[in-house]
Amino acid sequence: MRAVVSLRIQERFVSVQGEGALVGVPSSFVRVSGCNLRCVWCDTPRSSWTPEGDAATLDEIVAWCAAGPRHVVLTGGEPMLFSPAAELSQALRAAGHHLTVETAGTVWCEGLQADLMSISPKLSHSTPWQRAEQLGRKQLAPMHEAARLNLDVLARLIANYTWQLKFVVRTSSPEQLAADLDEIDQLVDALELPTNAREQILLMPEGTDDASLRAGYLAALDTCQARNFRLGLRLHIHLFGHTPGT
Ligand code: SF4
Repeated sequence: MRAVVSLRIQERFVSVQGEGALVGVPSSFVRVSGCNLRCVWCDTPRSSWTPEGDAATLDEIVAWCAAGPRHVVLTGGEPMLFSPAAELSQALRAAGHHLTVETAGTVWCEGLQADLMSISPKLSHSTPWQRAEQLGRKQLAPMHEAARLNLDVLARLIANYTWQLKFVVRTSSPEQLAADLDEIDQLVDALELPTNAREQILLMPEGTDDASLRAGYLAALDTCQARNFRLGLRLHIHLFGHTPGT
C-alpha cells in the first residue's frame, strides 16, 4: 500500500504571479511552511520565523491545483527542505501544470522537477542581527549568516534547471545599492554566469508599498540598463498591498 505523503502548508491561494519573468500569469500558489533562513525583512514570517499551517496530503494538493490555473508556484518558506516536495513536483507536472519553484537556493532536493527554478539568493543585509537579539533568539542570526549562500547548490540549480535569479536590493541610498551590487557581482562572477544570461538576473527593490517600490525602481533603473539586469517588479503589492494570500 502506498504511504500517505504530506507537506505542511501555511497557505494556498490563486492569484497572478507578482514577481519574475512570469509576472502577471494566473497561478495557484502553494506555500510550504518552514525555512532554514530568517531574513530580517521576510514577507512571509508565518512560514519562517513562526511557522504555521496544517499537513496536507500530496493527493489533496494536486486535486486543489487541478481546479485552478495551469501555472502552479511552489513556494515557502523553503520548499526544497522537504523531500515530499519532489514527489509533489512530479505529480503536478505529470498533471500538465507549469511548475515554478521559489527557493533561496541553499539546499538541493533530489528528484524535484520544475519548469522554472526561481532562485532568490540572500545578500548580507538579510541577516537579522538586531531582530534576532530583540526576540531573544540571538542564535538565529549566525545560523542565517552561515546558511544564506551555498555556491555549490546555486551552481547545481543553475546547471540543472531553467532559472532566474532574484536579488532583493536596498535602494534608499546610493551607498546601500552599491554595496548590494558588489555582493551580486561577486556571486555572478563566482557562478561564472555568461554575460548573455544577465536578463535572467532581476534586481527587486525592497519595499512594501507603491511609493517605496516606485522610488526603488527608479533608483535601480540606471543599474539595470547599464548591466542588462532585469528590473524586478512586485505586481502583487501594487495590486493588493502587503497582504497575505495574494
Ligand atoms: S528565505 Fe524566504 S521564507 Fe525564508 S526567511 Fe528568507 S524571505 Fe522568508
